[in-house]
Amino acid sequence: MPTREKRQWEHRRASKEMRLVHQQVKRNREPDRVRQKSWMPGDPRDLDSWDDMDSPRSEPVMPRGEQERRRAVLTAALEKLHEEEGIEAPVLAANRPGQRGIVTEVSSGLCRVELDGRSLLCELHSALGAKETGYTNVVAVGDEVIVSLDGGGQRLVEAVLPRRTVLARPDVYYNHLQQVIVANADQLLIVASWREPAIWLELIDRYLITAERSNLTPIICLNKIDLAEDSAACRAELQPYLDLGYRVIFSSALTGEGVDEVREVLRGRTTVVAGLSGVGKSSLLMAVQPGLRLRTAATSERRHEGRHITTQVDMYRLEMGGYVVDTPGIREFGLSGLRRRELVSFYVEMVALQGECRFANCSHRHEPGCAVRVAVKQGYVSAARYHSYVRIYEGLKE
Ligand code: GDP
Ligand code: ZN
Repeated sequence: MPTREKRQWEHRRASKEMRLVHQQVKRNREPDRVRQKSWMPGDPRDLDSWDDMDSPRSEPVMPRGEQERRRAVLTAALEKLHEEEGIEAPVLAANRPGQRGIVTEVSSGLCRVELDGRSLLCELHSALGAKETGYTNVVAVGDEVIVSLDGGGQRLVEAVLPRRTVLARPDVYYNHLQQVIVANADQLLIVASWREPAIWLELIDRYLITAERSNLTPIICLNKIDLAEDSAACRAELQPYLDLGYRVIFSSALTGEGVDEVREVLRGRTTVVAGLSGVGKSSLLMAVQPGLRLRTAATSERRHEGRHITTQVDMYRLEMGGYVVDTPGIREFGLSGLRRRELVSFYVEMVALQGECRFANCSHRHEPGCAVRVAVKQGYVSAARYHSYVRIYEGLKE
């Protein structure tokens, strides 16, 4: 046998032995435990011994451990179904991706789930509790969930999968606790307008802080540039942000300038859109995808399958892939819980200087020997950014 084939043959035989060992080990364990993949990726044992097991090769690449975690959630949901509902296994078979959906609307005890291209109204399984999640709500818009049918044909959310990101705010009733507003978003599109309403840099800074605290990638979009006498003026205003490496898009929903760029950043991602009312968020999104209409009222009701759903967060699917999330009031809850002394860490251009201040606990407002203020005077730190720092600082507790 040629060496290469021999090696392959030996490898196959070794894999087979490996499988037998695995089955043995599995049998000796407690029943139905989720099989752990304990070796490293790249190990030759890896591919072969996975061939005939429960993990299809086509599964998307995920962070290590995520696959196991998700499967554990599924298995738990399955087991619960078997025990409590007496439902047959195929309802929630782990290899049926159609059972995994995305929550697009939430109301108490109910949510709308986009699943396999359909939009389904689902109830939450009574066993799902918010407590374990550390937040006051069980599901939020953007959550990935496992949906099943119960005996009566009711659709039930059985499990909420681990969240990649969380945009949260203090709960309306329990202020010390947090409520998830949007789960699993990728980025925050911060829309401002040059005029009507005039650009407000402090708000941009607040949103940038919110994005960073929530692990969302911020993108700044300056709209209504058609109202500027001089496009250089727009650019100059946002130069500090460009210098800091933020992505800035200059757009006009009216002339169509920059709309392609907005479309490109939205493609395939989940984007929360933020900005004052009137800056042109709806107009921009309509330009990106005709027919996409944001609601303007802070809270509104819609009838779905004969039931009311009240929601403060809207999620829209983009035809080109991706979602846009519209949530009024993001401004108010953005900085909750932020401590004064933490603020500077969100101003990267200042944080680098603070070691030079005379006092270690310098707030960079009026202390003598403040390196930050010197840098502002000399033009190394943008005066506008510094002023927003001071204003935000003074609005924070402690
Ligand atoms: P939203 O509240 O942020 O969703 O803002 P809208 O999209 O409702 O826009 C508010 C107003 O600004 C509307 O009268 C729009 O026609 C106008 N508008 C939106 N984008 C632009 C723009 O790029 N240039 C100009 N001149 N007006 C715009
Ligand atoms: Zn200082």
